[in-house]
Amino acid sequence: MIYLDNAATTVLDENVFAAMLPYLKTEYGNPQSQHAAGRMAAEGLLAARDKVARAFGCDSGEVYFLSGGTEAGNLAVKGVCAAHGSGHLIISAIEHPCVMESALEMSKRGFAVTFVQPDERGIISPEEVENAVRKDTVFCAVMAANNEVGTIQNMQKIGEICAHHGIFYYCDCVQAVGCVPFPIGYADAFSVSAHKFHGPKGAAAMYIKRGSKISPLISGGMQERNLRGGTVNVAAAVGLSVALENAVKGENNTHIALLRDRFVSRVLSEIPQTTLNGDKILRVPSNANISFGGCAGENILFCLDLKGICVSTGSACSAGAVAPSHVIAAIAGEERAKSAVRFTFGKYNTEEEVEYAVCALKQIVAKIRNEK
Ligand code: PLP
Repeated sequence: MIYLDNAATTVLDENVFAAMLPYLKTEYGNPQSQHAAGRMAAEGLLAARDKVARAFGCDSGEVYFLSGGTEAGNLAVKGVCAAHGSGHLIISAIEHPCVMESALEMSKRGFAVTFVQPDERGIISPEEVENAVRKDTVFCAVMAANNEVGTIQNMQKIGEICAHHGIFYYCDCVQAVGCVPFPIGYADAFSVSAHKFHGPKGAAAMYIKRGSKISPLISGGMQERNLRGGTVNVAAAVGLSVALENAVKGENNTHIALLRDRFVSRVLSEIPQTTLNGDKILRVPSNANISFGGCAGENILFCLDLKGICVSTGSACSAGAVAPSHVIAAIAGEERAKSAVRFTFGKYNTEEEVEYAVCALKQIVAKIRNEK
């Protein structure tokens, strides 16, 4: 199998698994418990929190462990709205559904929402964000790097605008770990999800600036300093902390970018009617999102799958209906969205795999076009 879907998830690293194992088997206590077993688990959790705080560049009292990137997006949007009661939200039109749909839910509850559109490169203009600011704006979400086209946003400028107007700025960093520095100092909150950088699934960490106005979504426990009720998954938190420590070094970025660049230049030069979606430069090293004129992205995905190659279309598949990606539609229109395929490379991919994938793609695209 050739796995080119590293933005969807990644394989668990051996050293991460080894670090988690004791907390699944021997140190299984509840970190809230007042006895030796509880204390051992609490020590593991404390060490994991400290490790995450070092990677984030914040105080360990500003690190929260959650169940995933989706929960983080929900907590940011709904938690800030709940704390304010009313107001206006600014949301980039290329956010992950966890932010988009949370904002839409809030709009049904009386909050006003402005969606800021990206330009054709997939970049959100800070000026557009500033133009959207109203007197009652309480929240802004613009992600660090987009999950479909990998474009990197100007977090610092957007954070400064938000700070100037007293707006809570949430930055989803799920796809940006190891690629850009964390927006510490200019975001009020940001989040990472372990399974995107060789950690376990169902584990996220969120930075929330001390003193932020935000209410919990999950009640019924004092855990996570009263912001997130529920027994913390210690093994997952430990795994996340080790995976994050590995990932922030960005040691594999050169290898990954080399594979991605080779792949893109070969596809664009050897397969006619192909277009790279998103900015060429301002994108994470792993992402290549390409539209294949005249082909449905899903067809390419299924044919690649038959050849043992895993990719994604970035389409939302719900209730059996396949909708073209809202992100590509926003930057390049519906047609390009329908023919888009996302290839995301990782540290374990090789040049041979790139070679094989390019050859397979050439055959598949020619066949699909001939059958028309
Ligand atoms: N935010 C972004 C940008 C993502 O890419 C994803 C997952 O694809 C999420 C949030 C959700 O993360 P999780 O899978 O941990 O719920």
